[in-house]
Parts: sequence; C-alpha cells; structure tokens
Amino acid sequence: MAVTKKKMAVVPLRGLTVIPGMIIHFDLNRERSIRAVERAMLKDQRIIAVSQRDAGIDEPSLEDLYEIGTLAVIKQVIKLPNKIVRVLIEGIERVKLFSQDMKETDYLLVSVKPVKDMEEYADTKMPTQIGEDASPELTAMVRLLRELVAEYTYSNPRLNKNVEAQFEDYTDFSDLLDFVTINIPMELSERQALLETIPVRDRFAKLAVIIKGETQVLGIKKELAEQVRERVDKNQKEYILREQLRYIKEELGEDNTVSDVDRYRQAVNKLKASKEVKEKILKEIDRFSQISGMSSENAVLRGYIETLLEMPWDKVSKDKNDIEHAQKILDDEHYGLEQVKERMLEFLCVRNLTKKGESPIICLVGPPGTGKTSIAKSVAKALDKKYVRICLGGVRDEAEIRGHRRTYVGAMPGRIAASLKSAGVKNPLMLLDEIDKMSSDHRGDTASALLEVLDSEQNNRFRDHYIELPIDLSEVLFIATANSASDIPRPLLDRMEIIEVSSYTENEKFHIAKEHLIKKQMEKHGIKPEQLKIQDAALSELIRGYTREAGVRNLERKIGELCRKTARMIIKEHKKSVSVTTRNLEKLLGKERYQYDKKNDNDEIGIVRGLAWTSVGGDTLQIEVNVMSGKGEILLTGQLGDVMKESAQAGISYIRSICDEKKIPAEYFKEHDFHIHIPQGSVPKDGPSAGITMATALYSAITSRSVRADVAMTGEITLRGRVLPIGGLKEKILAAKNAGIVKVLVPKKNERDIEEIAEEIKKGLTIVYVETMEEVLKEAL
Ligand code: ADP
Repeated sequence: MAVTKKKMAVVPLRGLTVIPGMIIHFDLNRERSIRAVERAMLKDQRIIAVSQRDAGIDEPSLEDLYEIGTLAVIKQVIKLPNKIVRVLIEGIERVKLFSQDMKETDYLLVSVKPVKDMEEYADTKMPTQIGEDASPELTAMVRLLRELVAEYTYSNPRLNKNVEAQFEDYTDFSDLLDFVTINIPMELSERQALLETIPVRDRFAKLAVIIKGETQVLGIKKELAEQVRERVDKNQKEYILREQLRYIKEELGEDNTVSDVDRYRQAVNKLKASKEVKEKILKEIDRFSQISGMSSENAVLRGYIETLLEMPWDKVSKDKNDIEHAQKILDDEHYGLEQVKERMLEFLCVRNLTKKGESPIICLVGPPGTGKTSIAKSVAKALDKKYVRICLGGVRDEAEIRGHRRTYVGAMPGRIAASLKSAGVKNPLMLLDEIDKMSSDHRGDTASALLEVLDSEQNNRFRDHYIELPIDLSEVLFIATANSASDIPRPLLDRMEIIEVSSYTENEKFHIAKEHLIKKQMEKHGIKPEQLKIQDAALSELIRGYTREAGVRNLERKIGELCRKTARMIIKEHKKSVSVTTRNLEKLLGKERYQYDKKNDNDEIGIVRGLAWTSVGGDTLQIEVNVMSGKGEILLTGQLGDVMKESAQAGISYIRSICDEKKIPAEYFKEHDFHIHIPQGSVPKDGPSAGITMATALYSAITSRSVRADVAMTGEITLRGRVLPIGGLKEKILAAKNAGIVKVLVPKKNERDIEEIAEEIKKGLTIVYVETMEEVLKEAL
C-alpha cells in the first residue's frame, strides 16, 4: 500500500536531534520556525523536527537539512519575552523529507513520508517484537544491549540506573533501541546517524559500538582522574608534613642541628684517638646538641668540635727508613753541601737506631738562600713524611704558638696545633723556620712555649689553649732554621743540634744554577729546554754582576726574570729560542748592579782592609784612621757596634803600651786626636774580629808607614797584642778573594778552620797565620 506524501511544517534544529519517543523542549527565536509552530498548532499540532547539517545557516532550505527527520507532537508552547517561543515536543516516528513547497514563503513547508511505510526498507525488515516468541537473534541482541547498558551505567554512576530497569517496559526492539539512544550521552552526529539507520540490525550494531566506546572512554577518564587525585593528595601530604616539621624546628630553634650532631657522632666513631679524646669530643657534642642554633655559642662550639675532629690524634703515616734512598734524594736535589748532607744522614741513621722521640732537634744555621728550607723539604721527601712549615719570624705573642683560650672572641688553635691539623698525621716533619727571628714581649714568653714543644720530656702532652686536650708531639720530626745561632735563645739552643750551612762560592753558585735553578725556573715558567740557553760566561756574569748574596735566592730570581723575558719574546716576537750571552745580558736585565769593593791600587798610610762576616755573607771593610793635633781623644765614626768600639780602645792601648819600643814619644798621645772611621756598608757590622785591623791602621797612621794594599786581615786583639781566633772564615776568605786581595792574615788558632775550607776557595791566596800583633805589623807594613 503506497502511502502518499504529506505536506508538513518543519522546524530546523541546531545542535539537536529528536529521536522518536524523546520528550524535549527547546527555544525558538527564528521567525520562520515560530510561524511553523503556529501553523502546526492551528492544524494538528504535529510538526517535523530535523537537524541542520550546518548549524551556522540562519534560513535553511531543504538541502541544508538532513534527509531523515522526526515527526513530533507539540505538547506545549510558551511565549517568552524577546520574541522567544519555548516548545515542548515528543518524537513520534522517523520521516523522510522529499520536496519543499516553494509557494509557501512564511515557513518551511516540506512533503514528508514516514519511513516505516516505505517500500525500500521492506526487505531489511525483521520481526521486532520482544518476548517469548522472539527469534534467538533478537533475544541475543536484547540481552547484549542490556549488558552493555549495565556496564555503561556501572562506570557512569551519574546515569539514571532506571534505564536498565525500564527495558521491561518495551515490547518492540526498535523502540528499545531508540530509548537507549535517548538515554546514553553521545555525539550529535552519532545520534543523527542512529536516527538515519532504519534497519534494526544495523542500528543495533551501531549503537552497541557507540556504548562500548563510551564505556571505555569513561573507564580511562576515571583512571586518569584517580591518578591526578593521588598525585595531588601525595604532594599535599608531603607539603603539609614538611611545613609542620619546619615549624617545629623553628619553634625549637634547632634548624639542621639534628643531622649535624649525628654526623659528628659518626665522625667520633671513626676517629683514631684515645678514649680520653673521644670522650671529651662526645661531651662537647652533647653540649652542642642542647644549645640553640641561633646563639653565637653554637657557632663557637661547632668550630671547636670540627677542629677536634680534624686533628690527627693517633693517625700516623709510615716512614721510609731507607738511608740509601734518602742519600739519593738529597744528592739529586742539592749540589754541594757535602757536610750538611752527611750530618743529615748521620742524624737519620741515629734516628733509625734509637726509639722515636729521642732524637735531638736539628737546627740548620746559615745565611738566607743557602738551601736550608729546601734541605728540610728533601728530608721529608726522603722519609716519605708529610711536610709542614711554621714561620716563626716576627712571632711575638705566645698565643701564636700555644693558641688562644676559647673564651676569646675569634679564638684559634696555635700554629703548632694548626699545622699538625693541616698535616693530618701526628708524625710529620715540622720545619720551624727563622727560629732566631722570634721575639718576646709582655704577651708572654714565646721561647718558653717553644721549649715545651721541643722538649722530649714534655712534648708528648703539649697543651694548646684552644684545643684544651694534650697533643702528642713526640713523633714529630722538628727541623729548625736560623740565620745566626747567636740570636737563638740559649735554652732553645741547648736542645738543638746545630748544622752550619755556609755561603756558596761563585763556582758553587754556578753549578747550583746550572744543575738546579735554571731547570726549576724554566719549568715554572713553562719554557721548554730547547727554548732557552744561558751560556756559561753569561751565567758567571749574572752571578758576579747582578747578585750579591751568600745564598742563591736572588740568583734564582734573576734566572726567573730571564725566563719571563724569554717567554715574552717567544710569544710576542715569535722567536723559536733565546740564547743568553754576555752581550745581551745587559739588554735583558739592565745594567750590572754590583761591583766588588776592589783592593786599593796603592799602599796607603792609615788605611787597612779588614774582613767581616755578616748575616748575608762575607765582606771586606776598609778602616781609615786620621791622626790630628788635639788632646788625646778618640773619635769613632761609621756604623760601628759596641763590641767594635771596645776593640778600637784595646788597639790604642796596645799601641801605647809599645810606644817606647817603637820610639814614639809618650806625649804624642796627649797632643793628638785619633779619628777611626769605617765607611758604611749596607749591613751594620759588629764583633771583635776587626781588632787587629784597627790596631794596624792606627799604628800606620801614627808612624806614617804605609800599609800594603793587597793584604787583608781578621782577628781579635788583646791588650797585650795577642791575636785571638774568630768565626765566619769561609765567607771572609771568599770576600777577600773577590776583592783581589793576595795575602790574608788569619789567627793561628783558626788554622783548623782554614784547612776545612775547599781548596777552590783558597786558590791564589796566601794565608798567613799570626799569633801576635808583632807578626801582623811585620806582614802588613
Ligand atoms: P733558605 O731556607 O736557606 O733561606 P732556600 O732553601 O729557600 O734557602 O733556598 C732558596 C732556593 O735555592 C731554593 O729554590 C733552593 O732549592 C735553591 N738552592 C739552595 N741551595 C741549593 C743547592 N745546594 N742545590 C740546589 N738548589 C739549591
């Protein structure tokens, strides 16, 4: 039976699909839609609701609508302000839209036909009656749909549970499918597709896929939400706990104290130390744990505990006791110094034989730059000991050695304890540098503090004011250095064994430079061996003209200067190598600095050359005497010390005592004044050794007999004209040689010392031993 098409008013819908069975209200504001409703209301209250393909079109025609729409009954129409009409409709059945009535322009009038009556869908038709008589296929589909819906509602509790329960109310499967379609949320396009799918089998399949998909999406959504919530919860919890902890700590004023205390306790456990020490540190840690983190006491105590923990206490390093190895290192690192090395090795042998702590303390005495420090360093290397150096020059305050009490602000351990701490072991080699430059003032006796350090009877329990615990120094190997033994406080001197390190000759300096200093400086300045050559003649010139010292410190500095000049030429002038010769030396280092005080060319009256020893080496000094009429006064000028002045007096007395013998009238001394002058040298000189020189100069002036210019002398004089021995001969002889002297008068009693001096130094000099002034005068005049 062919059902004819029917012309019906259409309401185009935006974002909405009406499914049969669906009751829904929506607002209309398009005039054509409102008129369509009005017209329907006048007729049978039926209308076609159909979705627009594109929601953006305001006045859609038939082409802009989907092909399948829904026939609906208008249940209610409410007019709202602003020309808005709210309608409530109920979907009845699917209809297909055919053609638009173009004559009707007020609203959309379209001819439609219900799909259920259409021939084309007839062959896809199947019985849709649910119930006992239903086909197994249909029953299976119903059950499956139910399960799907149950599953969906389980994961979406917000959906009305009744959906599943209402299954019972439906007898037609097609209606059931529409009912489910209405109640499950889905995309607009999906709903429209379900509307357009007429065969129930297909519609079921589509719906099943959609529900399954929606269920999955819900599941994933839930999982994600769960994860996010967990993370937020955890962060929240941690934050709250941390805030609470911080608050509690702040209230207690503890901050990080808890962990520090634990750390300290652990450190004590690991410490190699006696029970006494550990107990004391633990006690301090306990106190520390109880005081407030903000107080200044906390900082002081923290410093104290950390210092105690860093002290070596019972930690030792293992010594290497191989004497041959030691000898090799000493020889490799130092040229010459034979006696010093020998004494050092003897000392090490004795130390090997005797038990620890009983060896005497070595003191290396000699002018600066003669390798004292560097010998000590080599000894440490040879013994495989840690090396620490304490410079005592200028130390005046006892606290520098013994530390400040902790009650002082900024208290610190003394130098001994501090250097032991930095050594990290209790048996290092400790170099006490410049022990003669230490002095004492009202702040306590530095020498007596040092005495406690060096005294093997007491030094196993040395007390530092800061540390408070006794420190064991008995295993420390002390080596001291000094420029002059006479400046070392007596009690200290008694405890030390002196090894003298004397000045170097030009030849020794030459070898030291060639074998050690040049290499060392080139390495230090990053210059490769092939890049700098210093010719021998230039080196000698450098030693003679540019340095004047007992040791080699300035020489090393000058070599360093040459290295720097070389580096500059290599970088700036792109030179491959630099060769230093006597010709370019002046260009590199500037004009020569020093010229030795040469001997006078002519013999003169009243001028005698003496020899002096100073802390920087030997020197010659010219003594001048003038005699003028006066009343017997003695005038002394120049940089003279007290001892020297007394020597001058003794000289005059001696000459007076022999004036009869020498036919000098006794009145002579009443009618003349005597002026003795020693031209200044850079270093003040003092000591008795100029005695015979002054006496000779006086005698020469009084008797007007000239003194030989090529003679120099040294020796103490007695009132009776005896010549007494003096020291520092090596330096003096060296100085005499440099000045071009050929004959040196030396006290007979110094013969042994002269024998010890290397032949190299004495070569070309006549040394005459004298016992009396008589002999001196005979040789000099
Ligand atoms: P001091 O302690 O006596 O004042 P140093 O030990 O500081 O002198 O020596 C100064 C420099 O001279 C160091 O670089 C040292 O290695 C070097 N030196 C001194 N004497 C010698 C030597 N006999 N052989 C090699 N190098 C030496």
